[in-house]
Amino acid sequence: MKVIYTDNNATTQVASEVLEEMLPYFHDLYGNPSSMHSFGGQVAVKLTEAREKVADLVGATPDEIIFTSCGTESDNTAIKAAIESNPGKKHIVTTRVEHPAVKNLGEYLSKRGYRVTFLPVDRQGRLGLEYLQKSLSDDTAIISIMWANNETGVVFPVGEIAEMARDRGIVFHSDAVQAVGKIPVDVREVPVDMLSLSGHKIHGPKGIGALYVRKGTKFSPLLMGGHQEGGRRGGTENVASIIGLGKACELAVEHLKGQNEHVKYLRDKLERQILKEIPNALVNGDRDNRLPNTTNISFEYVEGEAILLMMNEFGISASSGSACTSGSLEPSHVLRAMGVPFTAAHGSIRFSLSVYNTEEEIDFIIEKLPPIIERLRSLSPFWGQSGKEA
Ligand code: PLP
Repeated sequence: MKVIYTDNNATTQVASEVLEEMLPYFHDLYGNPSSMHSFGGQVAVKLTEAREKVADLVGATPDEIIFTSCGTESDNTAIKAAIESNPGKKHIVTTRVEHPAVKNLGEYLSKRGYRVTFLPVDRQGRLGLEYLQKSLSDDTAIISIMWANNETGVVFPVGEIAEMARDRGIVFHSDAVQAVGKIPVDVREVPVDMLSLSGHKIHGPKGIGALYVRKGTKFSPLLMGGHQEGGRRGGTENVASIIGLGKACELAVEHLKGQNEHVKYLRDKLERQILKEIPNALVNGDRDNRLPNTTNISFEYVEGEAILLMMNEFGISASSGSACTSGSLEPSHVLRAMGVPFTAAHGSIRFSLSVYNTEEEIDFIIEKLPPIIERLRSLSPFWGQSGKEA
C-alpha cells in the first residue's frame, strides 16, 4: 500500500540529494576532522562547507553555528547556557505551548530554585505581548519562546519579542525547529540571541541539530570535552549527519523560493474541503498566522486515535492532538493551554505537509476522511446526544 505521509512536523523523509551527500562519509571517507593528516582534513573541509550552508539558511555567520545532536539538545544548551552565564538571575520566561524540550526543562528548573513563567496563549494559540512585558524583571536570565508551534503551526511575534528582550538586556532564545525551512528565518532581521534547529524536520537526517549563538552572547557548553565546535560542544562530530544537514539547509533555501507556496496551496485545499464536507470540524490555531504546511483540525465527538487508525487503513499517516498517558487519552498541553473544549480537543488531527506531497494525495484524503468521521460519529453516544447530527 502506498503511504500518504502527512506527518512532516513529526519528521520528514531524508531527501535523496541529502542521502547521496552523506553516504561516502560512513565508509570511505571516515577520517576524524580533528586529525592533522589530510585524510581527516578533507572531512574538516566538508564540515566547514556544511556550517556555511546552515548559517546561510538563517542569515548567520558560520562561526555562530554550533552543531548539536538534535533540536532538544539545542534547546537545552541555550537555556542552560543563559542561566549558567548569568548566575545572579533566577527567572526564566517561556510559554505554555513549548515543545517538551523547553517545557520539561522549565518544569525541572522550577523545582531547582528558578522561577519560571509559562505565558498563556489565547483561544487561537496566540501569545499576548502584554503578558510578556509584565513578566520581565531585572532577575530574568532568559526568554525562550518558540518561533512556530509544532502542533498548530501558529507563528509567534518573534520580532517584537526580540526587541523587548533587547531593550531589557535579556537573552532571547527561540526554538525555530518547526519554522526553519518553512518560512523565512533570518537572525539579521529578528535579533534573537540564540536559535535552535533540527535536521530531521527539513529533510535531513535524524540525530543532528544546530544552535545559532549570536556573536558576543555569553555562553557555556552543555557537553564539556574536546575542542570541537570551538570548545562550545565537546564530542567527535557526527560527520555524515552534519554534511546531510548542510545539504538539507541548501535545499531549504531553494524550497523557500517557491515550493513552499505549493505546500500552502495543498494545505489550504485540504483544510477547505474538510471544513466544507465534514460538519462540526474546526481549525485550531490562528489561521492568519501559521506555517504554510500545518493544519490542526478538531472533529467534535470522535477520538483522534480512532480517526488515525482508520486513516491508517488507507495508508494515510497523520498525528493526533492527544497523548496516551497512564492509559487515558489526554488532550495535548498545547490544545489545553488554548482552551479547546474537551469534546473537540480529543478529536484533533494534525496534518503537516511537505514539498513531497502531491495534489492526488490531498484529493485521496479528502475522499476518504468524511466517511471515516461519519462512521465514528455513528458509533459515538455523545454525537447522538449533542443534537448536532447532520
Ligand atoms: N522543538 C520543536 C518545536 C519540535 O517540534 C521538536 C520536535 O518535534 C523539537 C524541538 C525537538 O527536536 P528533535 O527531535 O531534533 O530533538
